[in-house]
Amino acid sequence: MPYAYDDQNIFAKILRGEIPNNTVLETDHSLAFRDIAPQAPDHVLVIPKGPYMSYDHFATAASDAEIVDYTRAVGKVCEMLGVAPGNGFRLIANAGEHGVQEVPHLHVHILAGKNMGPMVSV
Ligand code: AMP
Repeated sequence: MPYAYDDQNIFAKILRGEIPNNTVLETDHSLAFRDIAPQAPDHVLVIPKGPYMSYDHFATAASDAEIVDYTRAVGKVCEMLGVAPGNGFRLIANAGEHGVQEVPHLHVHILAGKNMGPMVSV
């Protein structure tokens, strides 16, 4: 099934400047901002600026420049938060229905500042 990106999703609106965000870092191809409903003392979302729905979509369709920029942005945010090296963090990328992804634009969650407990609870 082909990827069908919905440009009306909330992160697309953030990227277009239609909705405010609490920016942590902006690079050529990526944006990091604080989650509006934080689930840890530090809860930052990192998104690519391109129209990618999920990690697998990005990993297969994005350019090398976008992938390098995005990966470096994640590392930079961890450094800015002081969590790596440090007390550590959890990196989550939900995808699709079974991954319980709410916003269909790739984002990784960086959760830090407390012990995040078991990896998965169902
Ligand atoms: P997911 O379930 O992985 O798709 O996560 C979506 C995340 O986006 C949730 O943690 C929401 O709290 C967060 N979120 C939704 N709207 C906004 C917004 N306007 N600014 C920042 N974070 C948001």
